[in-house]
Amino acid sequence: MKLLIASRNKDKIREIREVLKEVDFEFITALDIPGLPDVIEDRDTIEGNAIKKAVECAKKSGLLTLADDTGLFVDALNGVPGVYSSRYAGEECTYKDNRTKLLNAMKNIKNREAQFQTVVALASPEGLIGTATGEVKGIITTKEFGNNGFGYDPIFRSVETGRTFGEMTEIEKHKISHRGRAFRKIILILKVTQTSGL
Ligand code: IMP
Repeated sequence: MKLLIASRNKDKIREIREVLKEVDFEFITALDIPGLPDVIEDRDTIEGNAIKKAVECAKKSGLLTLADDTGLFVDALNGVPGVYSSRYAGEECTYKDNRTKLLNAMKNIKNREAQFQTVVALASPEGLIGTATGEVKGIITTKEFGNNGFGYDPIFRSVETGRTFGEMTEIEKHKISHRGRAFRKIILILKVTQTSGL
C-alpha cells in the first residue's frame, strides 16, 4: 500500500522514514510527485496547517497521505516563533538565520523554557482520518552546541537528556522528540487503516 509523506524537506523525510520503518508501506514523498503543488501554510495553528496539507495532498495525489507541522514555542516569548518557526527570520531565511534571531531575542532572558510540538495528520482522498500530537520540553541555550540534526536543534537542550538535539544522534533524538512521539502515535491509526483497507 502506498503512503505519501507530504513534505519536500529532506531532513524531515529522513527522520519520518526512520520512525515509520516498522510499518509496511511503500513510501512516496512530495519530491517523487513533481506536479504536486505546494500547500500554503496559512492557518494560525500547527494543527490547522497539518490537516490542510494532508487533506489537500491526499485529494490531489489520490493517495493515503501523512503531513506534519512543527513549531518551537518559547515561554518567555509568549509562544513565538510557534507556527511561524520556519520563517521566523524572514521568508527566505536559513536555519542559521532563525537560530541567530532567537538567540538574540533571548539575550538577558532568564526563563529559557520551550517546547517543540508536532501535529501529524493522516488523510485519504475522501478526507481526514485522524491526527496525533507529540511534544518535548527543553530550554533554549545561550549559544550553539553540536552539529547534528537541523533547524533549531543546536540551541534546544532536552530536559530529559541534558544535551541539545544537535549533540544527540538521530536515533537518540527520535526516542524523545516531538516528531518521534507524534509519528509513533499515528502508527496505530496507520495500522488500523491498513487492515481495514481504506
Ligand atoms: P515544519 O513545519 O515541520 O517544517 O517545521 C517548521 C520549522 O521548525 C522548520 O523549518 C525548522 O526550523 C523547525 N523544526 C521543525 N522540526 C524541527 C526539529 O526536529 N528540530 C529543530 N527544528 C525543527
